[in-house]
Parts: sequence; C-alpha cells; structure tokens
Amino acid sequence: MNQFQIQLQGLFKKYGQGSYETWALSDINLNISSGDFIAIMGPSGSGKSTLMHILGLLDRPTSGQYILEGRRADHLTENQLAFLRNQKMGFVFQLFNLLPRTSVLENVQLPLLYRNMPANERYKLAAKALEQVGILHKAKSAPNQLSGGEQQRVAIARALAPNPQIIFADEPTGNLDTKNSLEIMNILAKLNRNGKTIILVTHEEEIAKFANRIIRLRDGKLESDVIIHKQSAVSI
Ligand code: ADP
Ligand code: MG
Repeated sequence: MNQFQIQLQGLFKKYGQGSYETWALSDINLNISSGDFIAIMGPSGSGKSTLMHILGLLDRPTSGQYILEGRRADHLTENQLAFLRNQKMGFVFQLFNLLPRTSVLENVQLPLLYRNMPANERYKLAAKALEQVGILHKAKSAPNQLSGGEQQRVAIARALAPNPQIIFADEPTGNLDTKNSLEIMNILAKLNRNGKTIILVTHEEEIAKFANRIIRLRDGKLESDVIIHKQSAVSI
C-alpha cells in the first residue's frame, strides 16, 4: 500500500491571463501521509488558500500532478472530484458558514443529505459528531443563538459527520478569542489523535504549534517543511 495519502508533484497554479496573470503556486512538491497534522503558514497572498483549495479538490492545478492514494486526480471530471470530496474530505472555514436560522442538528445533517441515507441514520451520525465536539446539548438551538466558539464547533461537527479521512480548516480560529481558539485547536488535535488527517491554514504561530508539521509558503513557493517532534509526556 502507498503510505502517502496525497502527493503533489511539480504543481503550478496560475490565475488570470497575460498582464493580469498571477502564479499563485510555483513548483510545489509535497507528500502528505495519513495522520499528518499540517499547518500551512505564510504571509497574506503567499498561496495558502490556493494550496488548500487544490488539496481539497475544490480547485484544479494549472499544471503538475495531484496523486490521491496512488492515483492521478488532476484529470478527473467535476462529478468524480465531487464524489471524492464527499467521500474523503471535510471543510471548516473562518466564518463558520452555517445556516443561521436552521437548527444545529439540521446544519450538521446537511452534508449527509446528498447521500442515500435513511433519516434515522443521518440523525445518529449528526448527533455523534456533535457529541465529539462537545456541543450536543445545543442541537436544537439555531447558530444565531450561539457564540462564535460554539458555532465553530458546530461547523467542525458538520465537517465530521460524514466521517471524512481529511479535515481542511482555513483560519478556523481567525474570528475567535484566545480561549475559544485554544478550545477549537484542542478539538482538532483530538480528532488527529483519533486518526484524522488535519490540514490547517493559519498565520498565528501559537495556533500552528498544535500541528506536527509546518509548511511555509512565500510567493507561491514552498519555503520550508518542518516536522515538529513533540516532547513525549512520558518521562524516562
Ligand atoms: P493566501 O491565502 O496566502 O493569502 P491566496 O492563495 O488567496 O493567498 O492567493 C495567492 C495569490 O493568488 C495572491 O496573489 C492572490 O491575489 C491571487 N489569487 C487568489 N485567488 C485568485 C482568483 N480567484 N483570481 C485571481 N487571483 C487570485
Ligand atoms: Mg487565504
């Protein structure tokens, strides 16, 4: 079995044409393994979101290879990409993107509606995801009745409900205070310990510390890729 979940080889992304063209990503080579917890860092405009969108199959590279579990994914049709995305990936964004007046439970069930799944099964998965992020007691509330930290937990539950292998989070703590940011990061770290691959975009060093690998971009190029060896809690 191929140990890499995602491989990018000589990947470029261009926006615009002629004098308007911008190379958002240049010659990116990257191997992501199952169970990685990656923080993508870099200045504004360095290509972080572009890289995350390409990794999440939300956008296509201009050239280069995207290999998912050993198979090329860059030439797939929109339907095939959507299928893979629904099967394997979950997304969390800075602005939560919840339906404000629809119950928490229904928000979390939304990504399950596209699957042929009986209603009681959908309910069970949504409740389990809400429990995993510690917000099941708010299942009947509407997001506009919740704090920012609570809303982001609901958004994580929504990403989690279909049981994806990889969770992408673009500045998930960007709108939260320190206490709530740490809570959200502790939830992501726990999900990672339970086997999820986490790919996080952040510009805050304190947030990136939760990851076990930090990738830095500059002008669309991979500037560094460092594995963090966390001190073991067990003393010898
Ligand atoms: P970051 O997330 O690090 O701030 P982005 O990936 O959003 O950076 O953007 C990288 C570069 O690509 C920037 O120069 C940005 O202006 C450009 N860019 C991003 N998205 C588009 C787009 N849809 N059309 C044109 N240019 C874009
Ligand atoms: Mg961005």
